[in-house]
Amino acid sequence: MKVRIGFEIHEQLATRTKLFCRSPADYRDAEPNTNVCEVCLGMPGAKPMGVNAEAVEGVIAIALMLNCELVREPVYILRKHYDYPDLPSGYQRTSMPIGKNGELAGVGIWEVHLEEDPGKYDPVTGRVDYNRSGVPLVEIVTAPDITSPEEARNFMRELVKVLHYSGRVRREGGTMRVDVNVSIEDGARVEIKNINSIKGLYRALKFEITRQKNLRRRGKAVKRETRAYIEEQMITKSMRTKETAEDYRYIPDPDLPPLRITEELVERVRSELPEAPHQKLQRFMQQYRISRDDAWAITSEPEMADAFEQVCGQVEPGRAAAFFRHIIKKTLNYHGMSFAESGLTVRDILAVLGAISSGRLSQQAAELVLREVVERGAEAEELIQRLSKLDEQSLASAVEQAIRENPGAVQDYRSGRREAINYLVGQVMRITRGRADAEKALEMLQERLS
Ligand SMILES: [Zn+2]
Repeated sequence: MKVRIGFEIHEQLATRTKLFCRSPADYRDAEPNTNVCEVCLGMPGAKPMGVNAEAVEGVIAIALMLNCELVREPVYILRKHYDYPDLPSGYQRTSMPIGKNGELAGVGIWEVHLEEDPGKYDPVTGRVDYNRSGVPLVEIVTAPDITSPEEARNFMRELVKVLHYSGRVRREGGTMRVDVNVSIEDGARVEIKNINSIKGLYRALKFEITRQKNLRRRGKAVKRETRAYIEEQMITKSMRTKETAEDYRYIPDPDLPPLRITEELVERVRSELPEAPHQKLQRFMQQYRISRDDAWAITSEPEMADAFEQVCGQVEPGRAAAFFRHIIKKTLNYHGMSFAESGLTVRDILAVLGAISSGRLSQQAAELVLREVVERGAEAEELIQRLSKLDEQSLASAVEQAIRENPGAVQDYRSGRREAINYLVGQVMRITRGRADAEKALEMLQERLS
């Protein structure tokens, strides 16, 4: 049974102010309901101030990076009506498409819009926080070209990468929301709402496709409806039968003139457009003569790619690439962090690479330094001082200690279980708190025990 999956993706734009007022768009440090004004609270009589130009440019940039055509007709700002506590005015403002007919990684991009974020309603406490009410969002609507949860995951990773590269969206994370349409062969389209991570998206799709297939096998029809993804239980749950466009009673907002996406504006945004991830990947392979896999790993985020280029000013690119792909990525994955979040600086990286090449740091100790920097924001230079390799004599005494304290392992090794020596190497590393050179320790142990 053929599966068809399409997305509506919403991400906050990194503008200074909200879409229709001067309240700051970044509300992260604000107490609930303090980052507001009469406009974004939807007070009676409050009029929008016109559309935030920075937000419009952001959407144009993203549309261009998604290979869209820019709309030349007047773009009306519509009121989309629905009743929910997160929406003080009773309608959400959303633009008609600004970009159309794009493509990314083989998936059609139908439309790119500008939209305002509603407030945040907590159904458990019944409280609403309007701090994010009116924050500009980019909305991206894809064609239903995706056919499996795995493809969906890959596509979303690619899209998130492009959004980050655009430099136009919030990087703090946790602000993306995805609605997914899923249908299986001739079945009704089901929409799943409230997904806010790629992992959640994958799980929701796995669950929903199985649910629909099971219904079909039992001879039942799949209802056209909207379902919510319940993160804790990894299931989807019926919310309501699907609204049709009429339910939203779309009308152009009489307080706002339509946007004009002029040739001049588009060309200006185009001329300032950052390099797209796939372009950077190609350039890295050519310019630094590194493998596709290395380039792929390093260009996974723009901040890491920038750091790599700076490091390459002083370190041989092949060596830098191996360090970024194998050591830095590993550390970031271990902590579930992006490079941007990690606080790693070019200075830290150069210090660690320098200490490795001068023989002061072992590979293991280098990893330890990175971990400490990422975990506690420690100074790499200082850690390197502390973790610099042991001199011969201290290593020898650590080897003696390991032998003394582990007669069982020594016995095993001598009676032919050669792998027992790895345990002893581990003990030397423990005794020296990772400062020993593992290879040297192995050599010393072998010599001492032969
Ligand atoms: Zn406001």
